[in-house]
Amino acid sequence: MTLAPSDKALVPFVSVDNMMKLVHHIGIEPMLRGLADYIEADFRRWRLFDKTPRIASHSEEGVIELMPTSDGEVYGFKYVNGHPKNTKSGLQTVTAFGLLANVGNGYPVLLSEMTVLTALRTAATSAMVAKHLAPKGADTMAMIGAGAQSEFQSLAMKALVGLKSVRLYDIDPAATEKAARNLTGLGLKVVQCRSPEESMEGAQIITTCTADKQYATILTDNMVGAGVHINAIGGDCPGKTELAPEVLHRSTIFVEYPEQTRIEGEIQQLDPDHPVTEMWQVLSGEVPGRTSAEQITLFDSVGFAIEDFSALRYIRDHIGATDYYMDLDLLADPDDPRDLFGMLQRAAP
Ligand code: NAD
Repeated sequence: MTLAPSDKALVPFVSVDNMMKLVHHIGIEPMLRGLADYIEADFRRWRLFDKTPRIASHSEEGVIELMPTSDGEVYGFKYVNGHPKNTKSGLQTVTAFGLLANVGNGYPVLLSEMTVLTALRTAATSAMVAKHLAPKGADTMAMIGAGAQSEFQSLAMKALVGLKSVRLYDIDPAATEKAARNLTGLGLKVVQCRSPEESMEGAQIITTCTADKQYATILTDNMVGAGVHINAIGGDCPGKTELAPEVLHRSTIFVEYPEQTRIEGEIQQLDPDHPVTEMWQVLSGEVPGRTSAEQITLFDSVGFAIEDFSALRYIRDHIGATDYYMDLDLLADPDDPRDLFGMLQRAAP
């Protein structure tokens, strides 16, 4: 597919159904690796992008956010919500959709569901970062929070880092059970744990991926041993964090975009000038990642617009050869561009 709008000005749309077909067509792990490659490539050209903290509309129950960016040729945005209580009424905590557009003429070139895609891109980003920061030979992960993101996180760590074993813990045993069932037969040893401490036994990577709109303490200081890599996913909103401040003070902290992470990430608990390392600088070789075996590395993930842009770019590049999209009549397309009204009149019944 090209970036130019088609003759009929139709916009390809990838529905949830088609996204799932595309994932199975490509394969989950190859797709996670492919997404990580796209995200890493875009992190390496970080300076090119328009960047802004996402635009958040907060309420008692959750948040609705817009995440825009552009590399000068292509523009993208994602609409995403975060409502931790949603699962109690049968709804997702996180749902999303997004769009790519041609900067040259402003025409959209792709509209896509992004609920499934966000889970994939978040996991691909986590694993891409862990590949660079986790201790050598890391093969066991504690997965705390076994909700919608958890299987994706586990599989991405397998696909990119070589994870062999995942130790699941959720405050709700039914969630742990669900994740264990889903991960059966996918090449990981899966252990269901009854406490967060148990999940951390022998783990070199600790992923926290819980949803609770408060300053939660999923990891206390005494739970975290030297040399681990922490992949902190669930603290991603003002007033919504997962780690005790003492853990942050012992860690070398890596972030996506500091201007956004200082508002939303674990580091909202620290002084505004507490030193952090930007992940794009590690990926482009400008600053080191992990520097010792004893170091605690922490990826304070909040999810940044460039990751969604990369994910949409990946979808755009991979649906062209498939039937996994439909053309949407989203753009008015009068024969004479200035005759919008005439087009409307001619459509009168
Ligand atoms: P989810 O609601 O499906 O799952 C969250 C799980 O956390 C639930 O199973 C819940 O029982 C569990 N949980 C809550 N408190 C817990 C505790 N104290 N100990 C153990 N488990 C606990 O949500 P999800 O879609 O899996 O998302 C998880 C989190 O990740 C959310 O906070 C979401 O906002 C965040 N998220 C971050 C990114 C990112 O890029 N950083 C992307 C997507 C989602």
